[in-house]
Amino acid sequence: MVSREYTYKKAFERQKEAVKSRNMKREMLLSALYLSEPELGKIENELKSLGARLAIVTLAGDKEQLKVIKEKSKLLSKQKKEILKKAKIPALKYDCDLCHDTGYISGKICDCIKKEASRIMAEELSKEMPLKDCRFDNFDLKFYFDKTDSDGTNPRKRMTSILKLCREYVINFGLTSENLLFMGGVGLGKTHLTMAIVGGVIEKGFMPIYGSAENLFAIVESEKFSGEGRGNYDAMLKCDLLVIDDLGAEMTTSFTKSVLYNLINTRMLSGKPTIINTNLSMKQIEEKYSARISSRLMSNYNVNKFLGTDIRQQKLLSK
Ligand SMILES: [Zn+2]
Repeated sequence: MVSREYTYKKAFERQKEAVKSRNMKREMLLSALYLSEPELGKIENELKSLGARLAIVTLAGDKEQLKVIKEKSKLLSKQKKEILKKAKIPALKYDCDLCHDTGYISGKICDCIKKEASRIMAEELSKEMPLKDCRFDNFDLKFYFDKTDSDGTNPRKRMTSILKLCREYVINFGLTSENLLFMGGVGLGKTHLTMAIVGGVIEKGFMPIYGSAENLFAIVESEKFSGEGRGNYDAMLKCDLLVIDDLGAEMTTSFTKSVLYNLINTRMLSGKPTIINTNLSMKQIEEKYSARISSRLMSNYNVNKFLGTDIRQQKLLSK
């Protein structure tokens, strides 16, 4: 599982590395220049002491002195600039003009770090699942028959509207997006579409958590018994979007039941969106978990039933 903390930590590390390697040459040129131009060192020292005095004078409210100091440092900065220019020292360059590569703007994390964190999240998730292969544009509707069944349902029509729903879900995604429940048999594209949503949401700069029910519950369980705290569990409760894939395939215990209930309920109360995929019917969900879980799903989730014939099998047969 990839946590938000991990991706942000790594994004800051990457920025630091980039700044360091970019400025290395400049630093080397500079230290040589301090030796050949002792004037530069003097100017620097003077600028430093002016900076310290500036703080004191500002606090004292001495406007006259303030003006003198500001003019003096302006002059010194100009002299310094000229020396650097003459020695052909490149000007300081920033990747991000907003935060000057500090990663923060007035105490808040800058967009450049958020974007990098999203990239890291996508990179990490791609190691665990074929994020790149599961997109909306390669979701092939031709595998769903355009034939109305005796119960009045048409797989092609149903899946066309579900695909549309998923695309719009990404376009309009926000922290109060609705919850989705995808139901239906194996090989009908539930995982494909949820991965496409996850990829799209990451691209928009959000931090989803995706995992099979089995894996997510195992993570929570190992945290509980190893005494490592509950960082991952908390992340599942609070993340921008939680996707629980293949609910029902895992071994259920009273522990996993209570974890599932807590995830669904806590996220519902805080209004954070959750997507659940399952092969189970609502009745089976009630039997396997509890009535309070199935009733929450029924009343708070946009329930979509996938139709069709196992696509993996169709693809195998056509080979
Ligand atoms: Zn920035």
